[in-house]
Amino acid sequence: MALDDVTRDELQGIIAQLKESLYNHQQWHSALIRALICKLPGDKHDIGINAHTECRFGQWYYSKAPEKISTHPGYIALGDEHQRLHHMARLLLIAANANSVISTLDYDNFANALERMRLEIFALERELENTLFNHDSLTGAITRFGILPTLREQQELVKRHAQLCYIAMMDLDNFKAINDLHGHAAGDIVLTQSVRYLIKHLRPYDKVFRYGGEEFLLCLPYTELMSGHDRVMKLNEGLASLEIDVGEKEPIHITASFGLTLLDPELPVETSIDRADKALYAAKAAGRNCLKIWDSSM
Ligand code: GH3
Ligand code: MG
Ligand code: MG
Repeated sequence: MALDDVTRDELQGIIAQLKESLYNHQQWHSALIRALICKLPGDKHDIGINAHTECRFGQWYYSKAPEKISTHPGYIALGDEHQRLHHMARLLLIAANANSVISTLDYDNFANALERMRLEIFALERELENTLFNHDSLTGAITRFGILPTLREQQELVKRHAQLCYIAMMDLDNFKAINDLHGHAAGDIVLTQSVRYLIKHLRPYDKVFRYGGEEFLLCLPYTELMSGHDRVMKLNEGLASLEIDVGEKEPIHITASFGLTLLDPELPVETSIDRADKALYAAKAAGRNCLKIWDSSM
């Protein structure tokens, strides 16, 4: 999802801005209702065709919000509802300024638009907060607390839709040596860049969890054995070709080992995690920088 690319600082900034916009819009709404009831001229900006770009929220939305969130469906929907709200407010003000009666339909449309915009703000705020709290602050991977519920949910989908889900355990190779040679801060950069690479090259509905230190669990729904194998192999090759700049003369190279297994619909998900782990262990034993698929001899 687009949010994977948004940094924690940006997320926090957007959440703060959404909270402020809700407050601003409440103020704006109160002033508008006051103008209508007391037959005051109202804010001249609200009569204009571009009112939605001129209010404080509009100024943020159209010119200050981070580019990366601009394609998020919730963000787009919020912009649409906001524009609709201003359009409805404009109709009310035009009628009031012409001393016409405001129709109940126009007023109801305005009230609905306001409610829908608030709903969009709450929904987006909730989603951003979930992203912020459920993701590991260093790497951006989902924290391990999400693993069991996610896999159990996937298991239910597998049972119902006959689509398969594969999981892969991944561990960076000889990572301790990177820390020892280049320092912990450089290790952090390598870890972060590796996960960024994974997230960028997986499908929007695949998930990357931080299982522990430099070990990650990948959840790949709608995946058959061959496609899962090929996808993980591509990640394996892609990671190995990364040139990671840690501010030294030469970039750092990293490899990873992978253990792949089916998320078995009939067994507890913990068993499948265990199998992925055993396959990973086999990949390490086979010399690292490779992928092993679990089999019952492991
Ligand atoms: P192997 O190929 O067998 O996995 O070897 P390894 O060196 O990667 O494995 P080992 O378990 O010996 O070392 C893992 C290291 O990862 C040790 C630990 O300090 C480091 N590590 C774990 N989490 C972090 C982190 O968040 N940042 C940094 N910089 N290092 C971390
Ligand atoms: Mg390791
Ligand atoms: Mg490890």
